[in-house]
Amino acid sequence: MSAKKKVLVCGAGGFIGSHVSKRLKSEGHHVVGVDLKPPSFSETVADEFYLQDLTQFTETLELFRRDAFDEVFQFAADMGGAGYINTGEHDDEVVWNSMAINLNVVKSCVLTGVKRVFYASSACVYPEHDQLEEFNPGLKEELAYPADPDSEYGWEKLFSERLYATFARKNSLEVRIARFHNIFGEEGTWDGGKEKAPAAVCRKVALVEDGGVMAVWGDGKQTRSFLHITEAVEGIFRLMRSDHDQPLNIGSDQLISINELYDLVAEFDGKQFTKEHDLSAPQGVRGRNSDNTLVESVLGWRPSKPLHEGLKTTYEWIKEQILERGNCESEETCVSQAD
Ligand code: NAD
Repeated sequence: MSAKKKVLVCGAGGFIGSHVSKRLKSEGHHVVGVDLKPPSFSETVADEFYLQDLTQFTETLELFRRDAFDEVFQFAADMGGAGYINTGEHDDEVVWNSMAINLNVVKSCVLTGVKRVFYASSACVYPEHDQLEEFNPGLKEELAYPADPDSEYGWEKLFSERLYATFARKNSLEVRIARFHNIFGEEGTWDGGKEKAPAAVCRKVALVEDGGVMAVWGDGKQTRSFLHITEAVEGIFRLMRSDHDQPLNIGSDQLISINELYDLVAEFDGKQFTKEHDLSAPQGVRGRNSDNTLVESVLGWRPSKPLHEGLKTTYEWIKEQILERGNCESEETCVSQAD
């Protein structure tokens, strides 16, 4: 085991941050978590947990001054799935909140002598013109420039990559940057508007009547790749412990259409339904996939399991969540209770 470190996890109440906190604890490190909220589905494992707004600079710097952190993992962001970042309705908040968080975190890292920071970027940084076809052979890291992300969320991520890299160049701060390609799994948001496609599909399939009608966003031919959280956490730790200081994809290269995703999940309970496509619904780019050539050569890492394995455990977990909430017999009642 590596030497015990003092680690700050920003966004420790969120999906990836709470899983990373668990891994850090299992390795014996001292974990300090910060978020606007505690984890939604389990108790935090952090040794200390602060409910705090990272868009506020003075408070953020005070937090960083509580301890001499060896490492910071920065997951805090204002984000969600296509229904949140691709409608344009939340763009101003998304950009301002996440930008302010990153400005404050990077400055606090430098002012308090943090040795290394992990920044959670996104596949949304890649240009729209490389994602116009349903078949996407995979987005190589070098394709990010010349830049043209399809969402303001993606532009913010790209700028923040540059922000961390700029501070690293001029200071002793080391930066590790992952471009996540749709991470899903147990304890991820599954309703309320910020959920991403795999969780939404699992919830909708769990709630649809056998033989019923299923509303699908777009024509369902749009494609993505999805990575289970256990695989992502392994990639994150390999990157953080590596010497690689350039952005690296952490994603799956198993491309699947949204229609196929519904069919895959439907098989778990042997459900059948008629898809009704809503062509006015937000969809994002036409096709997105991870190219894992670089990450495999640098970290010796690639996803170890097929999509359906992680999807199955996630589906079972979402079914439990629906049961626990109770009184949630259909998609309509379940969603309205969550609002
Ligand atoms: P999440 O929404 O579950 O976690 C983000 C956390 O940040 C939330 O708990 C939220 O409360 C917190 N936060 C937001 N504003 C804050 C503020 N002002 N102060 C303190 N905390 C604040 O999202 P996630 O899926 O865990 O994603 C983690 C990171 O990875 C994010 O930066 C996200 O953009 C990035 N990412 C995730 C995915 C994915 O598929 N999950 C894909 C690409 C990039």
